[in-house]
Amino acid sequence: MDKTVMYKIEYGLYVLTSRENERDNGCIVNTVMQVTSSPNRVVVAVNKQNYTHDQIVNTKQFNACMLTTETPFQIFEQFGYQSGRDVDKWKGIQEKRASNGLCYLPQYSNGYLSCQVVSMMDLGTHTMFLADVVDGVVLSEEPSVTYSDYHSRIKPAPAASGKKGYRCKICGYIYEGEPLPVDFICPICKHGADDFEKIQ
Ligand code: FE
Repeated sequence: MDKTVMYKIEYGLYVLTSRENERDNGCIVNTVMQVTSSPNRVVVAVNKQNYTHDQIVNTKQFNACMLTTETPFQIFEQFGYQSGRDVDKWKGIQEKRASNGLCYLPQYSNGYLSCQVVSMMDLGTHTMFLADVVDGVVLSEEPSVTYSDYHSRIKPAPAASGKKGYRCKICGYIYEGEPLPVDFICPICKHGADDFEKIQ
């Protein structure tokens, strides 16, 4: 199978926010999808290694903020390339609170959904959450960003680092070594060895 065929599926990009014990967190996901309109429900799959995942499992609540084409790379770095277990992801980021008490991004989102989890499915590396949309607000008329926008326009081009090894095609992380272990998981974006390319 040509695995690059999977890149033909288009996605949006979202900041998924959570809050537990007065601690706010959030992560970047590309897997929010509305599945029914009556009741209004969405699904989202979240990697189990994300702190946001654990907070959603425990609280059954999240907000999904739809990112716009104006979103700078810094937002993807801040929410996607570090763990809320180690840092406060909201540090220096303008935030507001939705009616459910969880944060949303007033800047760079054109709207957000406040969601209540009704069911969870174990997918191995991820948990899939099925959730009722209990509130939603439109913030702007800016277009939503797509995954291909992110790769072609927002993500900085990889610098000529002189390093040898393998580069993650998703986030740019470099594994210095030979060979790349088949079960290697990117420590930054959590994608597997299939998403790495050899640095020529
Ligand atoms: Fe990566």
